[in-house]
Amino acid sequence: MSVNRMDFRDDLNTASDYLRMAVPQMVRRRIPPTPYNYALWYAHVQNACPDLSRSLLADFPENGPYDAEKSESLFFEYFVKHYLPTSPQARDLIVDIVTRLTRAVSRNLRGTQDYGASLREALTVFEENDDQERIRAMVGQLLTETRDLENLTQAFQSELKSAGAQVERLKRELEESERRARVDALTKIPNRRGFDEALVQSLSAPDEPTCLMMLDLDRFKQLNDTYGHPMGDRVLEIVGSVLAKVQSERVFVARYGGEEFAVIVNDELEAAQTLAEQIRRQVAALQIKRKSTKDTIGAITVSIGLTRFKPGETGASLIERADTGLYRAKEGGRDRVVIA
Ligand code: GH3
Ligand code: MG
Ligand code: MG
Repeated sequence: MSVNRMDFRDDLNTASDYLRMAVPQMVRRRIPPTPYNYALWYAHVQNACPDLSRSLLADFPENGPYDAEKSESLFFEYFVKHYLPTSPQARDLIVDIVTRLTRAVSRNLRGTQDYGASLREALTVFEENDDQERIRAMVGQLLTETRDLENLTQAFQSELKSAGAQVERLKRELEESERRARVDALTKIPNRRGFDEALVQSLSAPDEPTCLMMLDLDRFKQLNDTYGHPMGDRVLEIVGSVLAKVQSERVFVARYGGEEFAVIVNDELEAAQTLAEQIRRQVAALQIKRKSTKDTIGAITVSIGLTRFKPGETGASLIERADTGLYRAKEGGRDRVVIA
């Protein structure tokens, strides 16, 4: 075993390099970043003591269980022993101080005690004993080392914290882009993807009633041809905002695609029918002005197919039946609700 003292006097850059080397190895082995552990792995990446590295890698294989006792005993073996005088009483005293100190440092890192208090606490133990100058000097040395250790651990903690903040930010960005992927850019209501997910969710509660409306704007091609595509877009936006207003805990609205919309109503058919009629009337009552000439464009109407979910059937067959209703609404003269 090596009898060299571990040297923790690296400058900030070198210490940070070791930090980056040590942490991934600790993380891979799920080793908690306690002062003991960090000192051991720091010394390992420092390549300070081949014996220590060998023991460390043998005691903490990747995917192996973590053993706090093994880590403590290595810490004592490689760090503490070198400082100990030969007298057994002095040895006991110092071991006691180290134990208290490391505990104090851990507490300090958790923010429950300041470092000065930790030192004073340790020093009273020392003061209570009438030991020689030599031990005093050694303890002083030990305190310095412990403080170095604390600095390193704190650097490690702040690195962890900033990594944590970065992960949080990425998580929020991801959530935001996930949200955007479910929203239609033109109408700002959920898109087909959002609809598909909402339908699966509604149908996953088979005891709750679910109704589905498929809506299709009437003669929309003609509207585009007469007033231009940008006007068509504006109409879609306005119809989207009519639907957005009926959205609630029980009502999910979406742009299904093109000039088609879908509404999931987690309620009985009667309530869904009332809502369908309300939407149909509100769309028909829209008065949309052309920006150029300020005159109102002809009435916009919508045809709606409505149906109720039958337990045991698939979402696709529910949609198909609502579409059948929609087809009949078109055939029957448009601007109407047909229950299928
Ligand atoms: P019907 O009453 O039978 O539904 O007639 P329709 O003209 O609405 O039906 P059709 O399916 O023939 O035409 C739909 C039109 O909707 C054609 C397409 O150009 C238009 N459309 C689809 N998506 C958009 C869009 O995002 N913006 C605009 N302006 N038009 C769109
Ligand atoms: Mg259509
Ligand atoms: Mg249409």
